[in-house]
Amino acid sequence: MSPTAELSGVAASPGIAIGPVVMLRHVDPDIPDVDDPIGAVNAAAATVSAELMETSARVRAGGRDEAADVLQAQSLIAGDEMIADAVAEELESGATLHDAFARATEALRNLLASLPDPYLAQRAADVGEVMHAIGCTMAGVERPSMAFVEPSVLVAHEVSAAETSELDPSLVLGLVTETGGATSHVAIIARSLGVPCVTGVRGLMETDPSSIAIDGSTGDLQLDPDDSIRADFEARAAAAAKLRARVDEVQGQAVRYGEHAMSIAANVAGPDDVDAAARVESDGVGLYRTEFLFLDRPAAPTEDEQYEQYRHAVESFDNEVVIRSFDIGGDKPADYLGMPSEENPFLGVRGVRLYEAHQDLIDGQLRAVLRAAVHGSMALMVPMVADVAELRWVRGRLDACRAALSEANVAVGDVKVGVMVEVPSVALTTAAYAGEADFFSIGTNDLTQYTMAADRMDGRLVDLHDAMHPAVARLCAMVADGAHANGASSSVCGLAAADPVSAVVFAALGIDKLSVSTGSVNLIRATVLAQDPANREAITEAVWTAATAAELRERVGALMVDP
Ligand code: PEP
Ligand code: MG
Repeated sequence: MSPTAELSGVAASPGIAIGPVVMLRHVDPDIPDVDDPIGAVNAAAATVSAELMETSARVRAGGRDEAADVLQAQSLIAGDEMIADAVAEELESGATLHDAFARATEALRNLLASLPDPYLAQRAADVGEVMHAIGCTMAGVERPSMAFVEPSVLVAHEVSAAETSELDPSLVLGLVTETGGATSHVAIIARSLGVPCVTGVRGLMETDPSSIAIDGSTGDLQLDPDDSIRADFEARAAAAAKLRARVDEVQGQAVRYGEHAMSIAANVAGPDDVDAAARVESDGVGLYRTEFLFLDRPAAPTEDEQYEQYRHAVESFDNEVVIRSFDIGGDKPADYLGMPSEENPFLGVRGVRLYEAHQDLIDGQLRAVLRAAVHGSMALMVPMVADVAELRWVRGRLDACRAALSEANVAVGDVKVGVMVEVPSVALTTAAYAGEADFFSIGTNDLTQYTMAADRMDGRLVDLHDAMHPAVARLCAMVADGAHANGASSSVCGLAAADPVSAVVFAALGIDKLSVSTGSVNLIRATVLAQDPANREAITEAVWTAATAAELRERVGALMVDP
């Protein structure tokens, strides 16, 4: 494909990025047999060690001490003789150098992962990266690097959720991937980091641009942009900055839609997000994606570690913090759970479906939540529920954990319990949850995926991923009505809550809370505040009579007032 070919993708995280490209190509080095294999390993390891040390020094000079420390630690690993020893041991069985090297990598990784010291155990991932670099050097292939030495746009076939959460937003100007839709977890983390992102760009890895311009609000991208294209993207960035300044004026204001008070809360995935949300004065946290505390590590976080994180969150807000129990599975696997591979991971053992087999893990999380609840207003919500029995099971564990902690004289606080509406079965049976769910929180990302039968990871299905399809919007209306009939509250915490047209629809349907990424809190506050609630009936009517998402958007758009 020529570098000037037209490419486009899915708008996954808003904002403009223009800059040099760091291309992440995953390669599988083919290591040839040589006369002196250990000599070859040592020579390659020394090269890699020296390169890492040099990059570390450059990164440190740029003021990024944490990243420099990681690179320095990796340089020391590369210089350690344990690598040659491990390969030599594997060669004794008569294996080829390629196979011996692969087995030695696995053995070293397992060795570190099994160490009780969590710091050393985390180095297992570093060993994998270092060995990969040494293997590439021996095979004479260029190795991929995520080590940014200058602010750049990361271009990759795919970036895992864990890799994305490790990116340094001060150096990653933007993110472009060949796979993924607007609601894939790469997109979600990019939004929480405030990094513009375009996903689902087919043919991307066949190009070799040195610079790129992307618009994460439209999915537009241009490879090696010339001056006039750069000027166009810069103008878009200036317009976005203007809107931002306007909407930031409403920060901290209470939001009403007619008589109906609404909360605009934040979605977070860790302590840095909590601090950012507190800075924009969100109405608490509407979705704490706790599974990110569980990913990309050799073992689950301890109860105490979780307690500290949840306590930090509740102490940061006067309003409620909603902790989602871990939603592992789908595109968020955790290796240490020994999860078998599945034909359809999004339809498999995901979220609440994992808990019975890992009762120690969920009990640890519930205890951490109960203890942290002493320090503020706390709620728990359960992902991937399809049947009320699953919610009852979690409530049963919560009661058991509360009783055990009280028995041991450990202070516990009150915790409301809610259900996520991600599977259409819950939206269709809200009455079954009366007295069981204190609130319903609609996860439009999954609710849309399961209603439209459209894999949220597949960028080709972007037209089917719209939560404003009348099928999904009507399920949302049923949840709002069903919640209120149960004396419960309703919220939306999927990405649709951050889309102005959808947010207005949710306000008109009587949803009580919208929870959005921090960067969108003020935009959604300003959007709801700007509306004329006299349009409520016309909007509801449109939800129940429109035939397509496009029609619903057009009818609501015609009634909307810009913030
Ligand atoms: C959702 O499905 O809308 C949701 C909020 O959960 P997640 O995106 O983490 O699956
Ligand atoms: Mg979900």
